[in-house]
Amino acid sequence: MHVDASNPDLITVDVPTHWYNLAAELPEPIPPHLHPGTKEPVGPDDLVALFPSGLIAQEVSTEPYIEIPEPVREIYKMWRPSPLIRARRFEESLNTGARIYVKYEGVSPVGSHKTNSAVAQAYYNSVDGVRKLTTETGAGQWGSALAFAGAQFGIDVEVWQVRASYESKPYRGYLIRTYGGTIHSSPSTLTESGRAILAKTPDTTGSLGMAVSEAVEVAANDPDARYALGSVLNHVVLHQSVIGQEAVEQLVAVEPGGADFVFGCAGGGSNLAGLSFPFLREKLHGRSDARVIAAEPSACPSITQGEYRYDHGDVAGLTPLLKMHTLGMDFVPDPIHAGGLRYHGMAPALSHTVELGLVEGVAIDQHGAFAAGVQFARTQGIVPAPESTHAIAACARQVADNPAEQVVVIGLSGHGQLDLPAYAEFLDGNI
Ligand SMILES: *Cc1c(COP(=O)(O)O)cnc(C)c1O
Repeated sequence: MHVDASNPDLITVDVPTHWYNLAAELPEPIPPHLHPGTKEPVGPDDLVALFPSGLIAQEVSTEPYIEIPEPVREIYKMWRPSPLIRARRFEESLNTGARIYVKYEGVSPVGSHKTNSAVAQAYYNSVDGVRKLTTETGAGQWGSALAFAGAQFGIDVEVWQVRASYESKPYRGYLIRTYGGTIHSSPSTLTESGRAILAKTPDTTGSLGMAVSEAVEVAANDPDARYALGSVLNHVVLHQSVIGQEAVEQLVAVEPGGADFVFGCAGGGSNLAGLSFPFLREKLHGRSDARVIAAEPSACPSITQGEYRYDHGDVAGLTPLLKMHTLGMDFVPDPIHAGGLRYHGMAPALSHTVELGLVEGVAIDQHGAFAAGVQFARTQGIVPAPESTHAIAACARQVADNPAEQVVVIGLSGHGQLDLPAYAEFLDGNI
């Protein structure tokens, strides 16, 4: 641990050696995923067509700590540990007594937390000799993270991007290609599921559920290819635990009492789970009493409006059934700018903690989210990803004009420098 006295805002710690698995410590286990045909719990054999053995083991692991392989840790060191920054100027603008710390994942090569899992997934696929990874992407954060990770391990990456984002946000597509990946607009004519969707709804703006179907179909039909999912599944949540483990350690160096609130945005749930589960570990062990708040867009409110039940992760029904908060696999959210939050379901691990009363949901409208993002940019300089602005807005709603001296951690899941056209629309009054 190193606390730089000349710059107390930057508290650095060692990169974690293990991922933390909250599932191992919960009073009740996370409900298992079910086979889409038999409705029985999926076993490793059901998943081998899609995922490498190392990730399948993690998906059902009940070990609290899983060692991070050395090659993955070496790549993490390119940008980890990520900074925990005291947002004093943002605090002042909110007229609050709260001390606000942001855990900033925008320092990764692609500008978001997604690389934490992408690198791990590419590694385990390379161990199994996989030559190609297929995936979906919304705003392009996950696609670019996986393309970067694929380049590290010599794996081809083929990405289906939701049409609304593919057309309005070309920059991350350029990034994917720069890293050597291939990108298609989804729904595409390259897959059966894509062609079926286009026949029914040729003008669809696309959805993550549709893009998942296309990527899964291609991986399932190619023995050298596997599929990679950027959120939702237990192994992705596990990989993201590096965020929260660092943050707990960084925070305690300056706030011995720990956090009162942890805010994060929730699309599929991985960055919030990654940040908050180590804080919930502290809570389960009686060392802290943090409230965890999941900020989701009001256009896609799976936690606050969805049902908690088994549902597919994709439109074609190819994925296992997942017990989660869901708006239904056919739900097509409005094409809001926070493309990474346009998913019909929520990670089973996060949904389960909501059911256990450990995580609360709050819905934020797009205008309020951007207003908070602009306020944060004008005070702290960092332009937050449109997804991350939801967490900032939820925090502002909680602490503004309140003198209480609460300690708040916000998950700043990414930067928004490739999303400036969306900010321009907000600034022009079009949102
Ligand atoms: C993908 C993404 C999200 C949403 O995904 P989660 O799995 O909920 O974390 C949030 N923020 C950013 C910057 C993203 O790229």
